Amino acid sequence: MKTITLFPGREKLALNRHPWVFSGAIARFEGQPASGEVVSVQTAEGKFVAYGQFNATSKIRLRLMEWNQGSEVDELWYRQRLEEAWALRQSLVARTSAMRVFYSESDGIPGLIADLFGPYLVVQFLTSGADRLRELITALYSRLVPGLKGIVEKSDGDGRRMEGLPEVTGLLWGEAPAGVEIVEHGAKFALDLSSQKTGFYTDQRDNRALVSPFFAGRSVLDAFTFTGGFAVHALKSGASSVSLLDSSADALALAQSNLALNGFGPAEAFEGDAFQVLRDLKKQGRTWGAIVLDPPKLASSRDHLEKALRGYKDLNLQALKLVDSGGFLASFSCSGLVDHNAFREMIAFAAKDSGRRVDVVRQLHQAPCHPIRTSFPESEYLKGVLLRVL
Ligand code: SAH
Repeated sequence: MKTITLFPGREKLALNRHPWVFSGAIARFEGQPASGEVVSVQTAEGKFVAYGQFNATSKIRLRLMEWNQGSEVDELWYRQRLEEAWALRQSLVARTSAMRVFYSESDGIPGLIADLFGPYLVVQFLTSGADRLRELITALYSRLVPGLKGIVEKSDGDGRRMEGLPEVTGLLWGEAPAGVEIVEHGAKFALDLSSQKTGFYTDQRDNRALVSPFFAGRSVLDAFTFTGGFAVHALKSGASSVSLLDSSADALALAQSNLALNGFGPAEAFEGDAFQVLRDLKKQGRTWGAIVLDPPKLASSRDHLEKALRGYKDLNLQALKLVDSGGFLASFSCSGLVDHNAFREMIAFAAKDSGRRVDVVRQLHQAPCHPIRTSFPESEYLKGVLLRVL
């Protein structure tokens, strides 16, 4: 195995089990590793730090994954990571048939994401290290998951681009998914596994169930609805009506079909940019008893953080203007760079500018199938609040 030596003083984070080592921390190589190769990393004094994936093109040059020198990263090692991750998810099977069964660094294999939707697994290999594991992971999952019908790959998005990898999609094992339906907290969802991400956001599972009881008897605007997750749960919890908002016509169609699948009639829908639509709705004098704001990631890099926070604040301010007195706003950010404090400060500024009294009645987090590794704060990305607005 090739060895990489860090500059003096640059080993501290790595020894504390943070998995990322940036290019600037690397002093020298013994042998030139290829992208994706597993290497041994040591301090300037030659002390073992960890085994990790090397990537020649990414700014994150090393992704560490095993800190015990005696634990060889072999097939058995990968199988154990998959089994540990699988064991954690067994506590969720009573609540849902859709879950993230492997969450990258948090579960120990950087770049590997696996989402289970009923009998189908959708996998992503997002780093050059993970990209080498396609056959092994496919074989291991085909044996690990009872009743599995197919494994499809959907390795796309920004992550691969930053790693210098092309998009790869296709069937890896078994049959191609068709007509996939999942159940989450008693609500049904039909999925289009060819749509964005892996087709359904399981990180919001418990938040949908936690906020919807507050919406009983109220009209609800589900902004950034995608598959209609919040809208379906709102109606199941007794909301008087739902309105859908999304910039994508396909998403709105998917949300409508999920409402129908659960026995609800078609909902009012607004297609357009939420920043503009919320303003237009204010001009029309519209209000709702509750609003959900679940925008896509607005902060993709530290350089965009300030701008993203202005975006979040604007959205929240516009939404607060549309909530009836005594109503609710469930507001989320899935930007890892926007931490808990920045998010709460943004909410406080939006509340102040709205002139309303706003109280946090629930803190919301990513679902347990997206575990947060304590040594890797970046794995905590989804945060939210349920606000009561007077
Ligand atoms: N709330 C959803 C997930 C939302 S994902 C759930 O519970 O699963 C984000 C959604 O925002 C996508 O459907 C995307 O089409 C939509 N979107 C992205 N930018 C938008 C914009 N500027 N205005 C309105 N919708 C937008």
